[in-house]
Amino acid sequence: MIPVQGYAAPEAKIALAPFSFERREVGVNDVLIDIQYCGICHSDIHSVRDEWRKGFYPMVPGHEIVGFVKQVGSNVSHYKVGDRVGVGCMVDSCRRCGSCRENLEQYCDEGMTGTYNSVARDSKSINQGGYSTQIVVDEHFVVHIPDNLPLDAAAPLLCAGITLYSPLKHWGVGPNKKIAIVGLGGLGHVGVKIAHAMGAEVTVLSHSVSKKEDSMRLGADHFFTTSDPSVFSALANTFDLIICTVSSDIDWNAYLNLLKRDSVMVLIGAPEKPVPLGAFPLIMQRRSLVGSLIGGIKETQEMLDFCGKHEITADIELIPMQQVNEAYERMLKSDVRYRFVIDIASIR
Ligand code: NAP
Ligand code: ZN
Ligand code: ZN
Repeated sequence: MIPVQGYAAPEAKIALAPFSFERREVGVNDVLIDIQYCGICHSDIHSVRDEWRKGFYPMVPGHEIVGFVKQVGSNVSHYKVGDRVGVGCMVDSCRRCGSCRENLEQYCDEGMTGTYNSVARDSKSINQGGYSTQIVVDEHFVVHIPDNLPLDAAAPLLCAGITLYSPLKHWGVGPNKKIAIVGLGGLGHVGVKIAHAMGAEVTVLSHSVSKKEDSMRLGADHFFTTSDPSVFSALANTFDLIICTVSSDIDWNAYLNLLKRDSVMVLIGAPEKPVPLGAFPLIMQRRSLVGSLIGGIKETQEMLDFCGKHEITADIELIPMQQVNEAYERMLKSDVRYRFVIDIASIR
């Protein structure tokens, strides 16, 4: 076994603290990664606070992982020692079902295996995430980070990047499409950059009055504060696609009314509580409300290559691991511009 240092939540809703544990030995298909940086996703907070389902504790969160390959198994063909690599939200899936065969491992019939807070497929251990010094991952679930992207600012692409790229691509975003991104957080701000690079006309809908300048700098064409109710009448029937990244309960009905006929609102944010939904915002203009979960591994590599070509990374605040609990509190107040990334050197 490989000894690893990390930070874990000992129980639900308890502050993260230093935690030593072991990774499996490097198998024939495995890559051992020396983690350099790990982004903090709002899903880490939902998970640590047990807001979705019964979590496994102690829990080492983290699924925006980047680092260098330290060792490879004998069958590994795509990676060599020293490569710059990343690992996102999944580390395994059944590899046999229709979704897995179509490179949509995130929708695996048996359920994808999360990078942390999940049971390993051999049922022998609980997977632990990237707030740690090393990780062992099957090469199928590892991706290359383009050489021109700085590793720390590229880390959030592994979740935030793919989670926005996948629905933008799936629903055909490009020139002449008016799209809205609701919530300018970690996911939202990367989404603005990607949608702008795809050629769309991008609107940010934010509950923070102070994010207008940033939105325009990131590539948005328009910005509206949703605390002003007149925005909802002014923008009725405007958008071809709305992507909602908000992490808490908001009135989805009000946002659905902003869609044109036959258009789609994609739920990305996963608030703790169910949100009441009226029939009329959907019926009146044949609108759809759908969800989207990260993206497959092949598409994650495609997204990274797209970001390399367009020089897209996240706007980050780099912190030592010792500040992780404070960072969670700040994220809950939308007080980060726009993604915290942990410097893993702080616990080596
Ligand atoms: P984040 O950085 O905290 O951003 C969330 C944004 O939501 C905030 O910046 C804020 O933007 C807005 N917001 C927060 N509270 C709000 C409120 N009370 N009313 C209105 N808007 C509010 O979080 P994130 O890491 O981007 O993650 C966002 C959500 O996506 C989380 O629920 C996360 O679990 C989920 N997620 C889903 C997937 C997936 O595959 N579907 C993948 C990753 C994450 P403004 O200040 O601009 O309003
Ligand atoms: Zn995430
Ligand atoms: Zn499968």
